[in-house]
Amino acid sequence: MTCGFDQKTNTTLESMSAELAFNRSQDVDYGVAQEVAPGIRRIVANNPGPYTFLGTNTYLVGCGEIAVIDPGPADERHLKAIAGAILGERLTHILVTHSHRDHCDGARALQALAGGEIAAFGPTGTPRGAGAPGLGDGFVDQSFVPDRRLEDGDTVRGPGFALDVLHMPGHAPDHLCFALVGKRTVFTGDHVMGWNTTAIAPPEGNLAQFLASLERLMQRHDKIFLPAHGGRIQTPQRVVKAYIMHRKWREQTILACLDDGVGTIPRIVERLYGTLDAGLKEAAALSVLAHLEHLINREIVTAEGPADWLSASYLRPSSSPS
Ligand SMILES: [Zn+2]
Repeated sequence: MTCGFDQKTNTTLESMSAELAFNRSQDVDYGVAQEVAPGIRRIVANNPGPYTFLGTNTYLVGCGEIAVIDPGPADERHLKAIAGAILGERLTHILVTHSHRDHCDGARALQALAGGEIAAFGPTGTPRGAGAPGLGDGFVDQSFVPDRRLEDGDTVRGPGFALDVLHMPGHAPDHLCFALVGKRTVFTGDHVMGWNTTAIAPPEGNLAQFLASLERLMQRHDKIFLPAHGGRIQTPQRVVKAYIMHRKWREQTILACLDDGVGTIPRIVERLYGTLDAGLKEAAALSVLAHLEHLINREIVTAEGPADWLSASYLRPSSSPS
């Protein structure tokens, strides 16, 4: 049986996503504030891992009066490094891109050390976490409530800076990006990262929203992205386009599985990703689920059998030879 999609198109999509060749050679000096652009310093938290790369980037924006973007984990050394770097300056805002623990856990402790108003999107009223109860949902702080709730279109101002608030759900329902007004620079959090593609794990992650948020970034003409993990992105439009292409390519590979009768998530994961360790297998399964949900919502795919997503069978009923 053929793959059910145009091989030539797929090759193009595959080569586009191959452009996601990230520069992972970033040198990191934990706890040291480094200027990454005029008026912007970065301190990397010492929390490296399979989802955080070398650690969470905390950005200090401004001079004299400072906004911190993503205080990072509740790691005393990291928080003291932030407070030390801005000694003699005033911390006005602690901005949080989203309530994943590696971004928000340090917010209250940093506030206790250095002051500042904690501002973020806040509770969403939608299911949070990933997968089934007890599976991979410890990375969200479900009780996180900021001092001030931010919405799309708000602007956070300091004496030397203004940050436009962009609500960019997809990786997380509360995900915000912050655009530095007049500088064509966006702090992208985990929405677009400098070292890897972004994890979309339902229900926390929503692929349709993620793609819409990427399209929104495409409409902007920014010059620099400063992500929460990995180095600065100098070719933002190209990376966003490659992110979108990567997802289209992944969707085609999943449809090809269904057309070949490979219709359960564990079997799709095995075919697409080969042998993975348990943690990565879970992440891969959730990513495939995100794609299947997006296909089901567009009535391209149906689910049959057990209600639980890991055991259900997925079909592409109207597959017509192209
Ligand atoms: Zn995250």
